[in-house]
Amino acid sequence: MARPVVAIVGRPNVGKSTIFNRIIGDKIAIVEDKPGVTRDRLYGRGEWLDKEFSIIDTGGIEIEGEDEILRSVRMQAELAIEEADVIVFMVDAKTGMTAADSEVAELLYRAKKPVVVAVNKVDNLQRVDDIYEFYSLGFGEIIGISGSHGTGIGDLLEAVTKHFPDSQDEEYGEDVIKVALIGRPNVGKSSLVNAILGEERVIVSDVAGTTRDAIDTPFEKDGQKYVIIDTAGMRKRGKVYETTEKYSVMRAMKAIERADVVLVVFNGEEGIIEQDKHIAGYAHEAGKAAIFVVNKWDVVEKDDKTMHQFTQKIRDHFLFMTYAPVVYLSAKTKQKLHKLLPVVDQVAEQHALRIPTHVLNDVISDAVAINSPPTDKGRRLRINYATQVSVKPPTIILFVNDPELMHFSYERYLENKIRAAFGFEGTPLRIFSRRKS
Ligand code: GDP
Ligand code: GDP
Repeated sequence: MARPVVAIVGRPNVGKSTIFNRIIGDKIAIVEDKPGVTRDRLYGRGEWLDKEFSIIDTGGIEIEGEDEILRSVRMQAELAIEEADVIVFMVDAKTGMTAADSEVAELLYRAKKPVVVAVNKVDNLQRVDDIYEFYSLGFGEIIGISGSHGTGIGDLLEAVTKHFPDSQDEEYGEDVIKVALIGRPNVGKSSLVNAILGEERVIVSDVAGTTRDAIDTPFEKDGQKYVIIDTAGMRKRGKVYETTEKYSVMRAMKAIERADVVLVVFNGEEGIIEQDKHIAGYAHEAGKAAIFVVNKWDVVEKDDKTMHQFTQKIRDHFLFMTYAPVVYLSAKTKQKLHKLLPVVDQVAEQHALRIPTHVLNDVISDAVAINSPPTDKGRRLRINYATQVSVKPPTIILFVNDPELMHFSYERYLENKIRAAFGFEGTPLRIFSRRKS
């Protein structure tokens, strides 16, 4: 299910990143390592009651240079109009309305998207009346909030989530495997997509994929349906904001959210850097199946150890994703290209795998018999019962006497036993302990 996207737009200093951080709480999505970047997150996940959504702090996307406020704000608005399902237009009760606010409003009128005005810094009763002047911006819904006190945020989210599209309309059928390619610029993502589409027996559908993103590419091979979700303007470049690195990271995040299987693409000639980890880490957090694809293998000077060494490098950098298979290929020469889709099929299947309860419990009982659960102050963890509650990713709940007694290392041990028994190759597993009531 694709999550609705909410974007926060407004001139600098109205409090966008303060509110953004309050909404995502501690669910950190991206952290940039670059020095001098004060706002290090710009894409996160939030929830309100039973509704989940992605949220973009467009203030994180700014043009460098002097007096670029207007250009930045304009770019943010453009981005929000394009990417968001609902736009939060933030203004400041303390300073009152400014020319830049009117400028943003002008741009947002053209968006055929719902806009909710959040008047921030309503820190005291006195300022409650200050929100009225913002009705002149011409948007119907105005909510007073305070980032400092955390007041009004519930009302804001209530107003925002009301505009979400009906969650019923799945973009593609259950039988379609949704694939996203992520990776730094120039690793060969577009070339790889073109190579896949040019393969024998691949039938590319000429139907424009979806209402949401017409640049998705649906295709079929050997009776299996796929869709490639466009990432980071792979086939559509040119907008000003698309040249910013943060934007491409954000676009990748959005593609990951919509995918079942994420191909993390590397250039076999290059090493692995922090940025690769952040994006792949997001695929893991989002519970997606993943494959590491090492491209440009044609130009790598190799002997019989090279592949093993590169795999080891990947394993060292992505300790949290040992489940993801590694595929070596060349988009250019098509060498080993035919091996990719079968691996995609395989991990997609594992991502959706359901283990019958009795079989799962047999494996857990055996694991417990070999290696007793941990104790704390004389009390031992007891696992009464295990059950898989969902797929994509496979999620298992252990009903226990006291969840506090579960240790990370024991959970890891059980995960390894479960993987040894059932595979789950290519997919993260979620395991939760709950008190048996
Ligand atoms: P952004 O540039 O729009 O992302 O704004 P920031 O979130 O960086 O906030 C700008 C300044 O306003 C910071 O100094 C915040 O501490 C402050 N601020 C944010 N929310 C409130 C609020 O509700 N009340 C007051 N008084 N200050 C706030
Ligand atoms: P993207 O930015 O990740 O979409 O990368 P592109 O697909 O635009 O490729 C970047 C460059 O790498 C282009 O010049 C491609 O021709 C080249 N390239 C892509 N795949 C391969 C490959 O497998 N081998 C070699 N030698 N070059 C490749």
